[in-house]
Amino acid sequence: MPPTRRQFVTAAAALAASHTFLPRIGFGQAKKSTRVVLLGTKGGPRVGESGRSNPSTLIMINDVPYLVDCGYGTSKQLIAAGVAIQSVRYVFITHHHSDHNLDFGPLLYNAWITGQSARVDAYGPTGMNELARDFFKYMKFDIDTRIVDEGRADPHRLVTAHEVTKPGLVMTNDDVRVSACMVRHPPIKQSYAYRFDAKDRSVVISGDTAYAPELAEFAKDADVLVHEVMYLPGIEALLQRLPNAKRLREHLMAAHTLPEGVGKIAAQAKVKTLVLSHFVPGDDASITDEQWSEGVRKHFSGRVVVGRDLMEI
Ligand SMILES: [Zn+2]
Ligand SMILES: [Zn+2]
Repeated sequence: MPPTRRQFVTAAAALAASHTFLPRIGFGQAKKSTRVVLLGTKGGPRVGESGRSNPSTLIMINDVPYLVDCGYGTSKQLIAAGVAIQSVRYVFITHHHSDHNLDFGPLLYNAWITGQSARVDAYGPTGMNELARDFFKYMKFDIDTRIVDEGRADPHRLVTAHEVTKPGLVMTNDDVRVSACMVRHPPIKQSYAYRFDAKDRSVVISGDTAYAPELAEFAKDADVLVHEVMYLPGIEALLQRLPNAKRLREHLMAAHTLPEGVGKIAAQAKVKTLVLSHFVPGDDASITDEQWSEGVRKHFSGRVVVGRDLMEI
């Protein structure tokens, strides 16, 4: 039944009254709660037809976008999530596999061309400086042309790359403290998980990792753990079709986590919500949510979310 006018007026008055007690920042705007949006949930660099985009996760803290990983298609996914590309202020790369950094440069470019005014701080393993510098070199002709022809600012000055060479505190500001944990992703040595401790919520992104008990310690009592996952029967089916099956199987088993392992990490860490993402294989639509989460639930009794692109947690 629709509310009567009297009920509506009373509710509106109550809402207005309650707002006076909310914490306020800036020009009287209420501080926004921390949101997590999965931009791309498919593990691996292949651009497939599954409907899942390559890895990227957005964390909105007090309305500021923090981006973790830039798989192919990140700019488009940001727009689909309703976030202006040029509003991204912080980028974190977990490791330098291309499904995590291929669109780092294009993201910077797209922000610049869309009228970015604030600086982007980009954090990631050794190589971040080179990644940014060499991308601008790769696009030199276009950038130089537009600076002269369109009077644009030099995009180099809009990016500061920071190399994370060891685990621990990565950055901190008034809204969040970000720290890194070294995870297990051979043969890559510098592969990080990131933890965002905001005032209202703590969120951990596993990056790519094999089962790593140190990650459980790092994610202790987090509100949200976004963890990668690999489904063994799914990759066996995939490997049967490939000539380099043996090598690829060895890499996958040493570098990624099966659902049972993910469940153990979530249980040890006592996280409130576990979100599965970075699905391997990410293109096999025949694998059901139940199959992805069955092994997890053997060990973890908390809330399990089987991630999808653009899902908000
Ligand atoms: Zn990956
Ligand atoms: Zn990787």
